[in-house]
Amino acid sequence: MQTIATIYIDGAFVTPHGEELFDLFNPATAQVIGQVRLADAEDARRAIAAAKRAFPAFAATGKATRIALLRRMHAEVLARGEALTAAIVEEYGAPVSRAKWMAAHAASVLLDAAQLLEGYDFQRRAGSAEVVMQPLGVAGLITPWNSNAGFICGKLAAALAAGCTAVVKPSEMSAGQTRIVSEALHAAGLPPGVFNIVTGRGETVGAEISAHPDVAKISFTGSTAVGKTILRAGADTLKRVTLELGGKSPVLLFDDADLATAVPLAIQAGFMNSGQACIAGTRILVPQARLAEVEALVQTVVGNTRVGDPRAADTEVGPMVSQRQWERVQRYIRLGIDEGAQLLVGGEGLPPGLEAGWFVRPTVFTGVHNQMRIAREEIFGPVLVLIPYRDEEEAIAIANDTPYGLQAYVLSSKPERARAVAARIDAGRVLVNTLAHEPLAPFGGFKQSGIGREYGLFGLEAFLEPKSVLGLHA
Ligand code: NAD
Repeated sequence: MQTIATIYIDGAFVTPHGEELFDLFNPATAQVIGQVRLADAEDARRAIAAAKRAFPAFAATGKATRIALLRRMHAEVLARGEALTAAIVEEYGAPVSRAKWMAAHAASVLLDAAQLLEGYDFQRRAGSAEVVMQPLGVAGLITPWNSNAGFICGKLAAALAAGCTAVVKPSEMSAGQTRIVSEALHAAGLPPGVFNIVTGRGETVGAEISAHPDVAKISFTGSTAVGKTILRAGADTLKRVTLELGGKSPVLLFDDADLATAVPLAIQAGFMNSGQACIAGTRILVPQARLAEVEALVQTVVGNTRVGDPRAADTEVGPMVSQRQWERVQRYIRLGIDEGAQLLVGGEGLPPGLEAGWFVRPTVFTGVHNQMRIAREEIFGPVLVLIPYRDEEEAIAIANDTPYGLQAYVLSSKPERARAVAARIDAGRVLVNTLAHEPLAPFGGFKQSGIGREYGLFGLEAFLEPKSVLGLHA
């Protein structure tokens, strides 16, 4: 049993003013593995005050100083890769193969930001004006449980590279990862107050950060519903806001694709991160003429998917993060049946052979049309739908017929066709025959998948405000 009894404010680990104790679980066993003492609104205010005090001096640091800090942060997070991987597996239930990538990603985003900064010019000319990119001020960074360490490091990397100071509100369910990251970043020796980490509830700590007049910028990753609350809370002080929200990503499987490789890729896109991924490809659009063939392949691929102990090297789908999340996914499986969709594989209840833990049977429905709730709403578990289409026009229309627009997948053997289709898809990212991430490319959503972009140049500039100085050049 671990007890996490401190938060990080003004360069030190301190006891929170908040007194609530919150249980931490191992989702693979549903057993309590520890407790975290949660911060409250008063702690959030202290953290914001520390970040505000630190801002003028930090904003005045040069590129070289910030690059050196980011490199130290990278080295310290990288050095704790094993501990971080273990924490991700234990408290989140990510399969270890995925958890290793997540821990490595938490480190590499810091190095990516350092490298980006090397080539970035904070001053440029626009006609006769000098344009200076100025850091916004104190940034509030709010993360979800499905990739807590990666989001803390990614958001901090961009904020600090820009010269902002920060208050991080991580998911309260991911306190083990947060502790390891906090210790790593503390060891990197940043000036006190430059970053502060306050683990607490969304309704208290998150709400305080979202409304506080001394916070200039919010970068939030989480659900669309909470994103809208944050946007409203920031309206009074016109906060700059980056929102990375939910998705219902289409996978456009074309008739020219090699099904033997395309179908396993589509299933992997849907089941990544045990289905608890905003970018999961959850709507697989299938040419009507090849539906039977695809269904047979899906049954085989999903039947062979390893669900279970996330510590096992060959596990592909781990448990849901919490009982609540497990119940939500079960409700959607039941809903699919009630809506008249046909269960191709999977179904309600625990997978055969598993008696404890929040495991779900990897499930694929067929006979689905795009107006069913299981095709429109984000389920956030390993539950996918096959939707048939007649021709390319209809495939594109179905792909875009969603309130979301985070990511899309195009599976085709014809690059020119894939390019033309990608141009017509309303999504922040379109992945053609790949699941690879590109950290230099912007990431974020169209429509209700969010506002703004993270990563690379666009992610950096989301923490900067352009200022034009005129009259210096006649
Ligand atoms: P959530 O929205 O419930 O919580 C996210 C964070 O917001 C948590 O830290 C939570 O404590 C905090 N929060 C809750 N209420 C708040 C409030 N009123 N004010 C301020 N903060 C508040 O989401 P979750 O359940 O942790 O994560 C799952 C959701 O995140 C899914 O919808 C998923 O699609 C989305 N997600 C999006 C991306 C992306 O990049 N687009 C990535 C991962 C997850």
